[in-house]
Amino acid sequence: MNIKTDNIRLSYGSTEILKGLGVEIHDKEFVGIIGPNGSGKSTLLKCIYRVLKPDSGCVWLGDEELRSLPVKESARRVAVVAQHNYYNFDFSVREVVLMGRAPHKKALERDHAQDYRIVQECLETVGMAEFADRSFSTLSGGEQQRVILARALAQRTPCLVLDEPTNHLDITHQLQIMKIVRNLGVTVVSAIHDLNIAAAFCDRIYVMKNGQITAAGSPAEVLTSDMIARIYQVDAEITRDSRGNLHILFI
Ligand code: ADP
Ligand code: MG
Repeated sequence: MNIKTDNIRLSYGSTEILKGLGVEIHDKEFVGIIGPNGSGKSTLLKCIYRVLKPDSGCVWLGDEELRSLPVKESARRVAVVAQHNYYNFDFSVREVVLMGRAPHKKALERDHAQDYRIVQECLETVGMAEFADRSFSTLSGGEQQRVILARALAQRTPCLVLDEPTNHLDITHQLQIMKIVRNLGVTVVSAIHDLNIAAAFCDRIYVMKNGQITAAGSPAEVLTSDMIARIYQVDAEITRDSRGNLHILFI
């Protein structure tokens, strides 16, 4: 399923944060959004996962406008791994992942054996099966992040939105998460702060600055010394390793 935004604008008070953004993520494409802190990446993603409503412009999920879909239906199309996850109650890991099944249920419908099976599978996928009975709040930041990914996987959606999903993770788990997501074969749009991770995993990258898209293309087209100097004011050298993979060295 493809995701599209058409000329979306959003302001907080008199400050315009998104200045007419258009992005398109094709079916099963893995698209990264990069850009400095405060450029509007999370705000754009929140418009896509329906936490914020743009002042104008449209978001499309497949052939339908997001605002025309019942909330439950949009939750069957898009799952989210957001940046901060707080719970006021003490849920177990299994309970957190089970929440991902909610959009597939009627009001007050109980959890079925199939839901528990899906939860188990998703916990295994992220390597957290042995934590199922632990209290979510006692996990490390990285473990929590993997459980939140499992919850998103349990939603079984054709689209996944990720907001800097590898923050708090060591390099092993950064790569693990990105590989899991890459291999799902679903449409992915992800804010990514690490340019080398973006280079390694994205089919295409959008570069945001000051609420606008300033560049778009394949990692090789977008991740140039010029772009990095212009966007981040940092000197960088772009190299390829012995396998031909792109790497960015900051000088
Ligand atoms: P990014 O994810 O690229 O770091 P954000 O989308 O989080 O950027 O933020 C974009 C801009 O919007 C920032 O300048 C931020 O301070 C501002 N902003 C975000 N949320 C709010 C809010 N609730 N009220 C006012 N300004 C906000
Ligand atoms: Mg952000």
